[in-house]
This record gives sequence, structure tokens and C-alpha cells, in this order.
Amino acid sequence: MKLKVNRTFNFNAGPSALPFTVLEKAQQELIDFRGTGMSVMELSHRSKAYEDVHNQAITSLKELLSIPDHYEVLFLQGGASLQFSMIPMNFLQAGKQAAYVMTGSWSEKAFSEAKLFGEVYQAASTKDGKYRSIPKLDELNYKKEDTYLHITSNNTIYGTQWKEYPNTGDVPLIADMSSDILSKSIDVSKFALIYAGAQKNLGPSGVTVVIIRKDLLEKANTNIPTMLKYSTHAKNNSLYNTPPTFGIYMLGEVLNWARELGGLNAISELNDKKATLIYDAIDSSDGYYIGHAQKDSRSLMNITFNLKTEELEKRFLDQAKRKGFVGVNGHRSIGGVRVSTYNAVPFEACQAFSEYMIQFQKENN
Ligand code: PMP
Repeated sequence: MKLKVNRTFNFNAGPSALPFTVLEKAQQELIDFRGTGMSVMELSHRSKAYEDVHNQAITSLKELLSIPDHYEVLFLQGGASLQFSMIPMNFLQAGKQAAYVMTGSWSEKAFSEAKLFGEVYQAASTKDGKYRSIPKLDELNYKKEDTYLHITSNNTIYGTQWKEYPNTGDVPLIADMSSDILSKSIDVSKFALIYAGAQKNLGPSGVTVVIIRKDLLEKANTNIPTMLKYSTHAKNNSLYNTPPTFGIYMLGEVLNWARELGGLNAISELNDKKATLIYDAIDSSDGYYIGHAQKDSRSLMNITFNLKTEELEKRFLDQAKRKGFVGVNGHRSIGGVRVSTYNAVPFEACQAFSEYMIQFQKENN
């Protein structure tokens, strides 16, 4: 018997919506995972049953993102925020610098953390323009001797996204892809390291995915704690200590779901259609809705906008809440409205929200 369930229109920025079929499968397998008589949470992380889950998740991610063989996929903990420290700890060296492109609050946090470990500088910043845009590729001022160049591919708070990535040659390119990994195909070989907290497009919170080019493992500093060295986790297939087993299981199921949807090209096409519904409602509103991001930098994952007055914004958000739209308040640092349309947010939810925007404007003009 199928349960009647009450599922809301979930536009949370993260943790965020998970695919319904994945939740259903996890529910079915919760008590007795594939004949083990235990849930995944109760399996030893050294058991064959768990190792299969773990290795399958790595294989699926490699397949979906077409990750070349000279990269390792790691499942770490500490969120994307710990990567802000692990990256400089592993790679910054005396007498060398690393460059950061500042496109929002997460880049700022990554930059501040790196300052604790060595010399870093800003290769570009759009802060003066209230982080409405991504810098042009020819505006990035970094040097060919730099240890790495760090970017944030999608700015969850401001709603901007890189449309193309720089070719950095011998300078390792490092990207925080927490809020747009798996939303479209990317050329992994342009990057030396990609990291992402799982809780937007990949699964539940608690797992951080790191995709690292193997030559970087050899170049990393050695005078740092064992748990904070990428090489520790690479040597041990991310099983040096107890990994977040249930999160990795969920991640594997989300990847299966993504494959069944048709892979990243199909997902990206759908994401484009979903975001277009909401951007169209902004663009055809005659200035009633004011998009935060510059058009050429708009994110297909987090759509941010304001209304003319705070009072109108409050009415819009209160009414949205009453209609069952969850998570659409703008981040506390910038206010306004933010609609996160990650992979697992259904097209119908975006359609309902864009209809709500049009209706609200008619009724409150
Ligand atoms: N980077 C980006 C782009 C994010 O959106 C977030 C979280 N929203 C983080 C980093 C921090 O991630 P975590 O909470 O996993 O540490």
C-alpha cells in the first residue's frame, strides 16, 4: 500500500529537497538493508555490505561527472567549511601565494581562513557591486607562480554563478562547488580540486565530497594533523576512520536517481527550465520584482530578488508561507527572497511559485 504523504514545496537553500523516490527507497531499506537484518546505519564500516555502498557511490560520482582516472574522490566530514582550512593547510607554502576570487560570503570565509595559514590575496572581487556579478575571466589578476586560484562556482547567498571557468594552465584551480555540483556537466580536468558539502544537490548534510588531482596529494604539506591531510583519506579510500555511512548511502542513491533521470545533460536542461520560470516572472514584472544578480551572472540554483519595500516583501513572504512554500526568505545577511531550485526540486514546485509571484503582483499592485 502506498502511503498518503504530505510533501511541501521545499525551496530551502541547504539542507534542501531530496528526490522523493530516494526517500522512499531509504524508508523501505531502513529496517533490513538488502537482507542484512540491519539498517545501513547499523552496519560496520568495515563490512562487505557497507564497502559495496561506499565504492558504488564513488564509482557513480566518477561516471556522472566523467572524472578522469588521475583524480581521487574523497568523502570527508566537517562540511565545506573545513575545506576552507584544509586547502591552505595542505597547500600553502612559505614564500608562495594563493589567489582568491571574491564573489560572496563563502569566498570571504574561505579567504579569511586561508590567511591563517599563509600569504593570500584577492585576484578579483565584486564586493563593491554588492556581489551582483561574477568577474569576467580577463579581469582575474593572479600570477603563474601562485600555489592555487580559488573560486566559488555558485554563490548561494547572492544568487550568482560562474558560466565558464578560467583556464589557469599550471596554476591549480580550486572550486567550492557546494551549491551547484551535479547541476550540469563540467570539465573536471580544468580543476585541481573541487569540493562540496553534500546537503544541496548530493544528499544529506554530513558528507563533504572532494575531487582531487592525484599529483596534488604528493605536493601537500606533511606537518599537519593526520585527519586533515588529503593523503590520509586518499590512501584509505575515505575509510581511515568511520565515515558518515548513512549520508554516503543516501548520496549513492541520489546519484542513481540522477543517472536514471538521464544524467547531467538532462538535469541541466531541467534546471534551466525551472529557473527560467522564476526569472521570467521577475523580468516580466516591470520592475515589481527586482532581481539581485546581474543577468549574465544569474544562478540556476539560487534565485534572489527584492520587492520595492520591506513591507511588501514581508507580505509576499508571509503569504508564500501560508501557501506552503518553504525556505524562500532571503539569507539573513541580504534579506529579500531566495528561491533555491536544486536538482531535486520538482518542476511543478517552480511552476507553482512563479504562478504565485504573478498572482501576488496582480493583487498587490
Ligand atoms: N560554500 C558554499 C557555496 C555554501 O553554500 C555553503 C553552505 N551553504 C558552504 C560553503 C558551507 O558549507 P558547510 O555548511 O557544509 O560547511
